[in-house]
Amino acid sequence: MNVLEVRAVSKQYGSKKVLKDLSFSIPRGAIFGFVGENGAGKTTTMKLILGLDEMTSGEIYINGEKVRFGETATNRMTGYLPDVPEFYDYMTSTDYLMLCAEITQIPKNKRQARVAEMLSLVGLEQSKSKIKGFSRGMKQRLGIAQALLNEPEFLICDEPTSALDPSGRNEFLDLLASLKNRVTILFSTHILSDVERICDQVGILHKGSLQVVGEIDVLKERYAQPQIEIVFENTGEAEQFVEQTTQIIKEQHESQVFVSYSETYPLAFAELIAQLSQFNLTAKSIRHIAPSLEQIYLEVTK
Ligand code: ADP
Repeated sequence: MNVLEVRAVSKQYGSKKVLKDLSFSIPRGAIFGFVGENGAGKTTTMKLILGLDEMTSGEIYINGEKVRFGETATNRMTGYLPDVPEFYDYMTSTDYLMLCAEITQIPKNKRQARVAEMLSLVGLEQSKSKIKGFSRGMKQRLGIAQALLNEPEFLICDEPTSALDPSGRNEFLDLLASLKNRVTILFSTHILSDVERICDQVGILHKGSLQVVGEIDVLKERYAQPQIEIVFENTGEAEQFVEQTTQIIKEQHESQVFVSYSETYPLAFAELIAQLSQFNLTAKSIRHIAPSLEQIYLEVTK
């Protein structure tokens, strides 16, 4: 069963086509990386999923239930974490979550246990200080606790790691990954390494069109060509190699050359060594480069 289904969704602001015929789904339990450069249309898509904006055409379903603009019925199944969540800074995290629990009508006798559970889930159970003193990473984790308070099945995170420093980012990614069996996640970002680290599915949005969507491992096999990086002593040797070799050159940058191959790595490697010996060239290093999400991204957004 898919938690989210986006079917042929288009969105226009005036004459500007912002989303063009978007279709994708997220199966239960997946962490879906929603990737795209600034202005690609990620936030617009999320607004449509949350029923906060009206699509020009198409349909969106959450757990089989249709999302209707201006109605929040489907939002009972959805938690939302904005890029920079805002809180009442003068409160402690416990007081703040107790207030949220009251607003979202969690029964009074369950609130305390639920808040304690959420604080422990995001590693803030020890924090007694006011939110004012929290780091950005702590605020982001508190945002997750708030978003999950109502036990949604689907969590939408809008560029949650963009404003975090490296250690806050690491902690946050670990936290998201640990939620995998609890909630289905749409993780919007322009940071490909974050997606590669925690997501199993990806959708790449480019200028309002979904270029590619699916399981990352499958896409890697389909799109990204394996490559070998060879580093020479100097640019002259790299140029000589590029001129004389029969290998498929992807790119040369100063003393660094990237070749791609279609046979197995041992075969490609043996052929490379034979050619280097034939031209009397010595490489400083030879390295296999595994297909990456970045390669796929560059390929499909050309
Ligand atoms: P992203 O989240 O991927 O950075 P957005 O969804 O915010 O992208 O924006 C996609 C495009 O839609 C951008 O060109 C943006 O300027 C445009 N856009 C977003 N909201 C509006 C609006 N309310 N009116 C007109 N254009 C908009």
